[in-house]
Amino acid sequence: MNTISTTSATKLSNVLRKTNGISEHDVDLESNSTIWTENGTQTKFGKKTKPGTVIPRGLKQIVPTNKPKKRKVKLMNWKKYHRLNVIYAFIDELERDYPAICTVSVIGQSVEGRDIKMLKISNSDARNSAIWLDASIHSREWISTAVVTYIADYIARNFHSLPTSITNKDWHIVPILNPDGYEYTHTHDRMWRKNRAKYDGERVGVDLNRNFSCGWGNNGDEGSSEEPSSVFYRGPMPFSEPEAIAVRDTILGSTVIFKAFLSFHSYYELIIFPWGYKREPCPDYLKLLEGGAVMARAIFESSGVTYKVGSTKDMTYYACGTSTDWSYAIAKIPYSYMIELRSKKYRFKLPKDQIMETCKEILSAVKSLMEFIDRN
Ligand SMILES: [Zn+2]
Repeated sequence: MNTISTTSATKLSNVLRKTNGISEHDVDLESNSTIWTENGTQTKFGKKTKPGTVIPRGLKQIVPTNKPKKRKVKLMNWKKYHRLNVIYAFIDELERDYPAICTVSVIGQSVEGRDIKMLKISNSDARNSAIWLDASIHSREWISTAVVTYIADYIARNFHSLPTSITNKDWHIVPILNPDGYEYTHTHDRMWRKNRAKYDGERVGVDLNRNFSCGWGNNGDEGSSEEPSSVFYRGPMPFSEPEAIAVRDTILGSTVIFKAFLSFHSYYELIIFPWGYKREPCPDYLKLLEGGAVMARAIFESSGVTYKVGSTKDMTYYACGTSTDWSYAIAKIPYSYMIELRSKKYRFKLPKDQIMETCKEILSAVKSLMEFIDRN
């Protein structure tokens, strides 16, 4: 959160990091001697002694008795998919470690009352433009959250050695736009796509990427659905859902001009842009095609994977009420893209051993897009 969070523990861990070369994620902030893994098992520097263990007479007790209780630090990495609390602890930690450039704020609350958190990375230069990255608007598309957290980590940790095309931007990163759905995919139904909205007494859920106002409800059943049980249910009206409202109000409330809006999805391996709600090319079709091609080329050079580029309707189907049609038409963000990540082979269940490679190829794409934007 956006509070003064530099504690003596953080300072201690910073000192340790510098002197021992230990990475941030290896250090328990309240105890430099212990590493806790995500499931709570202790490794490396100490052996576990259960509370109340009787030390046999004659043996020296090596476990100090007056140590403060160790906090289990949730370890962030890109070797597996993580729960909401780990992702939020990770962005909070970036704010703690890089307070001069990182700020975490709550931009809204989900239907079930969970915070929707946004990490902003910025050097606060008034000449900056703004960039938007969001992930997991569709909760089952876990790789999207991994990708945007990887990009956040890269920018925050390397900020002072990065090119101007990265540092002259205010990065607005929402790692989990649909936190209720995201948790639900971990606890109940891996294939859940929508939020957890209740209509007619049932938690039917709304497809948040059909709940934005541009072209909402167009093209009948092909563009979205009025049927609450459908995976494409658009909700009773545009912006009926707090998660979509959070995006709208954050962007329209910003005094900084947004230049790019990148919403991450899976699994079609596509870079798509407006329109989704109609067939005609958008006024900036060629510019968006070119920016998309720049990203696709960077991806191919990074990993050899081919992402196709085109308008949403051309490459997929009518999609009405999407966030990217809204960001382009209403919020006037010129480079509005939906990036459909890997993989056509595994669909939503991208194996975890492909997370890192996907993150790297997309980081490369985003860097290239920033250079392209600054050139134009
Ligand atoms: Zn999606």
